[in-house]
Amino acid sequence: MTTNFVFVLDSDKKPLTMCTAGLARKLLDSQKAAMFKWYPATIILKKSVVELPLAYLELRIDPGSRYTGFALVEIATETVIWAMELEHRGLLISESLIKRNSIRRARRSRKTRYRKYRQNRKKPSGWLPPSLQHRVLTTVTWVKRILKLAPIKSIAVERVKFDMQQLENPDIQGVEYQQGTLHGYTLREALLEHWGRKCAYCDTSNTPLEIEHIHPKSKGGSDRFSNLTLSCHKCNQEKSNMLIDEFLKHDPARLDNIKKHKKQSLRDAAAVNSTRNKLFNTVLNLNLPVSSGNGAATKMMRIKSNLPKAHFIDAGCVNASKQVTLKTFQPLQVKSNGHGNRRFVTVDKHGFPRKNYAPKQVRKDWKAGDIIKVRKKDGTSVLGRVLKAAKTLAFIPKGGKETTFHPKKTKPIHRSDGYRYSFTTIDSVNVNVNEVFP
Ligand SMILES: [Zn+2]
Repeated sequence: MTTNFVFVLDSDKKPLTMCTAGLARKLLDSQKAAMFKWYPATIILKKSVVELPLAYLELRIDPGSRYTGFALVEIATETVIWAMELEHRGLLISESLIKRNSIRRARRSRKTRYRKYRQNRKKPSGWLPPSLQHRVLTTVTWVKRILKLAPIKSIAVERVKFDMQQLENPDIQGVEYQQGTLHGYTLREALLEHWGRKCAYCDTSNTPLEIEHIHPKSKGGSDRFSNLTLSCHKCNQEKSNMLIDEFLKHDPARLDNIKKHKKQSLRDAAAVNSTRNKLFNTVLNLNLPVSSGNGAATKMMRIKSNLPKAHFIDAGCVNASKQVTLKTFQPLQVKSNGHGNRRFVTVDKHGFPRKNYAPKQVRKDWKAGDIIKVRKKDGTSVLGRVLKAAKTLAFIPKGGKETTFHPKKTKPIHRSDGYRYSFTTIDSVNVNVNEVFP
């Protein structure tokens, strides 16, 4: 059964145990509480209460390149009671930086003397490109926001997708690796990802793939990740204990490709992990116990729990000790929108001014992006977003047409903070386990 939970604050803004949306509505109707925040839904009690014991939660995070999943989990029962998906704007940032760069570059060579290249452009250590740094910063912003709203005891972050060091040295024994099955599973998943889920010798993909030694084991080839690839049963049989140069002598292009791919086996994994490591190290400074999980274990736990693929569900399965159940199927969708730009003049692609900046009665109390409630003549009210804040507010209700209102007739619900909010509901469909394990 689906239940939606709401954050509850004490009258002095201390986080209390989360309550159901139904109870929150009762408290609001009887004037015992007031709305503190709409996104995420939070109520504040009007009297201070002593509530013991608090139902402590664990905040679990699954950082991804486009989306980062957040889940609040009751640890004892492994139940996800609140979830959120944060959409990043990494690509937009790099695009606008390229644009700015090209404009500045043009300016440098236009009617200026020759300037010698200055060698003071060294990046500090631990530097990340702005598009990646943005992922770390927005994620940490949301971790801090959630910490202020819910009683959280610990944080779990998915730190690595595949533990490459473990794959390279299969002799290392970790707690998870002593179970035996996970090592094979991690290895297989990492290989599928690295070799593009197809046979390395004939590109077939709709067939069970076998783990194949590039340099044959019988001729001294190792079990290390960098010596392994995937092939279909037929190719595996044909290659048998032949050397790769001999087996692919009629196809030099493929041979080159495999050799190149073999070399970069560890480098790309390190690049994927750099953002996650930075995030993990930043979260460590929040004075809470932090644990880390790996992606393969997360995926395995999600399949074991018979849950479909979604960013917030993956987050709920990070470092889970047993099968995970969901109480909510409706994660809060948060999209990073940014705060616009501070450019005074619009320029064309060559950097020439095209439009003058003309601020027209910009208001101090209202801002584009504010979510407001407008009372209509018939007594009903609608929610919507401010498009332009001038003398009258240009306002767009959900799914409706743009209209204007006098600010006196409107009430702010949620001030613009650089994010857009919405909800999606997923169906609790069962996953066919055979589909996932080829
Ligand atoms: Zn094949």
